[in-house]
Amino acid sequence: MYRGRFAPSPTGRLHFGSLVAALGSWLFARAANGRWIVRMEDIDHEREVPGAAADILATLSAFGLQSDEPVVFQSARTELYKAARDRLAAAGHVYRCWCSRSDLEPYGGIHPAECVAHETTRPPAWRVRVYGEIRTFADAIQGTTTQHLARTAGDFVIWRADTGCAYQLAVVVDDAAQGVTDIVRGADLLDSTPRQMWLQHLLGLPHPRYAHLPLVLGADGRKLSKHTAALPVDAHDPLPALCTALRFLGQAPAACHTPHALLAHAVRAFDARAISHATSTPAPFVALRKDVC
Ligand code: GLU
Repeated sequence: MYRGRFAPSPTGRLHFGSLVAALGSWLFARAANGRWIVRMEDIDHEREVPGAAADILATLSAFGLQSDEPVVFQSARTELYKAARDRLAAAGHVYRCWCSRSDLEPYGGIHPAECVAHETTRPPAWRVRVYGEIRTFADAIQGTTTQHLARTAGDFVIWRADTGCAYQLAVVVDDAAQGVTDIVRGADLLDSTPRQMWLQHLLGLPHPRYAHLPLVLGADGRKLSKHTAALPVDAHDPLPALCTALRFLGQAPAACHTPHALLAHAVRAFDARAISHATSTPAPFVALRKDVC
């Protein structure tokens, strides 16, 4: 049974890039007659914006994208993450680390196999050893991807000194606990995947299949900023953004009056091969307001 998911971080309102990830993962799941679940990744309290989680969920609903199961909040799952960290520690794969960002500057920010800083009274971070691991995986959209973990990531943090469980560990624990078979998300996370597969391997968890959607760029060709696509999508007028998101994914939107009708048509007509691997800039929503949708 196909199980897909969308895992937003409540760091702001839903913008076009996240809508593309939500819609892309939803389309793959629905086209495979699978389930689609939403997980709120709210463990980074420093970056969390109050009210954003509820706002994201309400916006998804307005767009016709509703979780098939109760939404899981990572903030309530610390014990599960601790258990995974302790399993890794018991097997000798993790160690405590006091190195600061500036300690790692001479190493290009990549932690070497041995710590640079000495133990202090401050709480430590926990890092997982990557040894000489080279990970290769076949991404359904981006093709074969290979990463030499020691060179590109180094021994990486799975538990932060300040905020606790790090994204890489939480995502791996939850994808396995929720039985996720297929991960469809933005290509900005492509280079995190080998680290996550490494943790899956160390924890004896299954590897899901991966599909990384094209990155949404601003009109200036850079990552989203001050572009229509970086603005929150309008929950009161979902059709223009939904049509743009479908086009961005290479799908042809039908002329419909409701998000539900548009989505139902999009599932029937869904062609995963039409999704480009290349990053691109979406058409501005304004033009679409005059469009068939
Ligand atoms: N929470 C992550 C984000 O919003 C996405 C995690 C994932 O899809 O693996 O960037």
